[in-house]
Amino acid sequence: MAPVERDLDAAAFLACKQGLLINGERVSAASGETFVTLNPSNGEPLADVASAGAADVDRAVRSSRRAFESGVWRTKMTPRDRVNALLRLCTLLEEKREEMAQLEALDGGKPVSNARNDDLPISTNYLRYSATMADKIVGETRPVSVPNVLSYTVREPVGVCGAIIPWNYPLMMAVWKVGPALAAGNSLVLKPAEQTPLTALRLGELALEAGIPPGVLNVIPGIGEVAGAALALHPDVDKIAFTGSTSVGQEIVRAASGNLKRVSLELGGKSPHIIFADGDVSTAIDHASAGIFYNQGQDCTAGSRVFVERSAYDQVASGIVGRARAMRIGDTMDLATEQGPLITAEHRERVASFVDEAASDGLDVIAGGSRVAGHGFFYEPTVLGPISNLARIAQEEIFGPVVVLIPFDGEDDAVLQSNQSRYGLAAGFWTRDLNRALRVASRLRAGRIWINGWGYGDATTPFGGFKMSGWGRENGREVFDMYTEVKNVWMRFYDS
Ligand code: NAP
Ligand code: MG
Repeated sequence: MAPVERDLDAAAFLACKQGLLINGERVSAASGETFVTLNPSNGEPLADVASAGAADVDRAVRSSRRAFESGVWRTKMTPRDRVNALLRLCTLLEEKREEMAQLEALDGGKPVSNARNDDLPISTNYLRYSATMADKIVGETRPVSVPNVLSYTVREPVGVCGAIIPWNYPLMMAVWKVGPALAAGNSLVLKPAEQTPLTALRLGELALEAGIPPGVLNVIPGIGEVAGAALALHPDVDKIAFTGSTSVGQEIVRAASGNLKRVSLELGGKSPHIIFADGDVSTAIDHASAGIFYNQGQDCTAGSRVFVERSAYDQVASGIVGRARAMRIGDTMDLATEQGPLITAEHRERVASFVDEAASDGLDVIAGGSRVAGHGFFYEPTVLGPISNLARIAQEEIFGPVVVLIPFDGEDDAVLQSNQSRYGLAAGFWTRDLNRALRVASRLRAGRIWINGWGYGDATTPFGGFKMSGWGRENGREVFDMYTEVKNVWMRFYDS
């Protein structure tokens, strides 16, 4: 045991009344309702949080609309002013790194060392990229076949945006929306997941401290079917950005149709991780293990289907089983912990039910497969194999530390089976053959491909899915297409 020294600011924040953040103030919900956010390591309540209802969503949207129409952020502040304000927010996040990391670990069940060394610096880097793009969102002149005319494009903010995010990377998912939305001059109403509202609220407070005007970023925790649904439906929201499950994504699309608000979706995955026998198999085993067990497998790009060329199967299976059994499971506030709990008791039951059903269907569970006794929502890193890609456990997104091993024979078989999925978020493979690398990269149907490594990402690279994994791309310069409208202006001039 190596318990982390508790951060006093995190403790002070937890002791505060957790109101909604609307128009620069922390306020109660109109109904007075609250919900409890838990610490998944022990199942105990962490904080009571105001629960936004439709009236609160409306209030937040009105506040964001006023901020947008007043031009307080998008015209009265220059693009360079917006760069500077967002960079100040990055500096504050750096200063508050320990506070934010501990809140993230306590609320979301991730090992504090991961929150400190990954979530905080990575989120800050993403935000910094967006900040520095605020004065680089440009239009063009167009060569038109009309005399005496200047025709040009400008990229203008969409207006009032809504963002609905999940609990697996609470702060990172927040900045993936907040950064580009605000950099482009929009106002944003952010609905964090009910399991992890704390760092989003703190981010909203820090944004005010950084000089981002009230109303530009409102944060309204609440229940998805209530607050999220009201935001997706709201007629004065111009765009909705959603990250979460595919089924809720479909509901968002239906709700958004009322005023045809713009929609971007980052949804689920069942990403194939292919190990060809000509690849660096021992390194592939490390990456395949981290690729599914990191963040307890609660990752949209988790490499949850590991395809192994038959001649390397036994080596890979015993390697991944060894890694699964060696993981140190424990309290998130223990610095030695490698794997924390799942987010909720219900989610653990859902994960367990996939494995239990597979086991009762006669599929081989070769590591893990059990809940860990105690108060938290822990579940063992679990490996099944060899199994068929058509088994339910190989087709449904589990969103937990559960990997299936699927043997294959040759490149065509690997590609065919990998693409046999309704999802297309990420895919990766290992080979030393350059021709194969380029061939397979072009044949895999996914928005992100990794060759000889797994899990890389950067603020500069576009991220999003093919097929039912979503609409649009976050990060990279592509994200600014999703937070701007293109306006084309024609101006005629006179001959002298
Ligand atoms: P979820 O149930 O879809 O929830 C995501 C967000 O939507 C939460 O804020 C949730 O609120 C809200 N929500 C729920 N029902 C809603 C409704 N009817 N209308 C509007 N909003 C609603 O997903 P989750 O279980 O939290 O997260 C896991 C899923 O997210 C996985 O499927 C995973 O693949 C996906 N994910 C994708 C990415 C990506 O980048 N592609 C990243 C992370 C996660 P509540 O918290 O109150 O339920
Ligand atoms: Mg929580």
